[in-house]
Amino acid sequence: MSEVAGTRAMVLRRCLRVAWQKLGSLLSGELKHEELQWLLSPHRHLTLLARRRATMIVNRVRLFALMFAILTPMWSVIDLIVFPFPLWFGLATMRVVASVAFASLVVYYRPNGELLDAYHSLALLFAIPTLFYVASYTLLSHYQLSGVSAAIGAGYAFLPFVLLAGLAVFPLTLLENLVIASPILVAQGVAGSLRWASLDWPSFAGAFWLLMLLTGVAAMAGLSQLAFMIALVRQAIRDTLTGAFSRSSAEEVLELQFTIAMRNQAELALAFIDLDHFKAINDKFGHDAGDKALQQMTAAISENLRQGDVLARWGGEEFVLIMPHTSQAQALTALQRMQDLGLGPRPDGTPLTASIGLAERCADQVPDWMSLVELADRRMYLAKSAGRNRVMHAQGEVCPVKNPAT
Ligand code: GH3
Ligand code: MG
Ligand code: MG
Repeated sequence: MSEVAGTRAMVLRRCLRVAWQKLGSLLSGELKHEELQWLLSPHRHLTLLARRRATMIVNRVRLFALMFAILTPMWSVIDLIVFPFPLWFGLATMRVVASVAFASLVVYYRPNGELLDAYHSLALLFAIPTLFYVASYTLLSHYQLSGVSAAIGAGYAFLPFVLLAGLAVFPLTLLENLVIASPILVAQGVAGSLRWASLDWPSFAGAFWLLMLLTGVAAMAGLSQLAFMIALVRQAIRDTLTGAFSRSSAEEVLELQFTIAMRNQAELALAFIDLDHFKAINDKFGHDAGDKALQQMTAAISENLRQGDVLARWGGEEFVLIMPHTSQAQALTALQRMQDLGLGPRPDGTPLTASIGLAERCADQVPDWMSLVELADRRMYLAKSAGRNRVMHAQGEVCPVKNPAT
């Protein structure tokens, strides 16, 4: 690369970084830094966010499909008044087919939290009118219309505008917006090229430009919906004091992970963590010091969590650590490492410790996620009575850590 090209690339990168930081500061009240990139593409979204988003998308798809299923055939009455019979018949047939397709969408898709199903439903919602648009436009191009008929006929050309404006109601990432908008823009291009000979280029180019602007504005609206949703989901699924997941979201994660583990015959480990002599912190140093210890402990564990592990505050000074695709032996190693690194300090500088009960779906042969939690909880109590600061699992106990870091 030449020096000039290198400098240009560096300037461009810097400009992009500044723009990204500016966007971040504009949204700072709503989104945290790491959440900003969730606006670009969905692949790093938390499972709980993905599931809520999938539900919302399918609900909105069904609402729109229902509306279109009713309204699409109704317009035939107007067509009947203004168009010659063969044209009306062709368009009416297309409208009935489109209406049946929309109705099937309402019947077939139900919100189930699966993002892939949400994508399918969304793709179909946009594909039906896009095909209708290309087909009706082709048919209309064979007729020379004038007066009111020409005006109504021209109305068909607005369908892509309506479609792209419709993007605004879905909480989609930038990538998803682009993937959905591109075929519609291409369809508009195809429809234009079909009328190549008689095409009025300046007005076609103007309309195309307007279509792109509309896509941009609709995408912005969708992104701002997504940003709002990310913030709301975070507030709903996190414990406000520690930032760990709340108990209700942990139950949702467990239910989901247990089903996945059953389906794939995979391992699923769960650690029930109860802090030792925590009441003494409140009694000696006050409630605020206790709160701070809880926050430090959450931060210490979270720093070393593996991708996919979920730490949740089950209640008070009790936490659960959900470890999907983790055998009992692997979980034990992770817990020992966690204890070696320490759970943060008590206010007097001594290390905070915990008694931990470990259970694993395959090793313990549990039938459901509630039994997994109960078993881990029972083992936590065994760890307490065996002297605290240890992990208890199916085969026995893992002895106390000698010198946890402070
Ligand atoms: P053990 O080793 O047997 O678990 O003793 P412990 O003192 O940790 O257990 P106990 O159940 O007697 O006390 C738990 C304490 O945790 C009591 C409660 O005041 C405190 N706690 C629960 N939630 C919070 C909180 O949000 N902030 C603070 N500061 N303390 C809390
Ligand atoms: Mg307790
Ligand atoms: Mg305790």
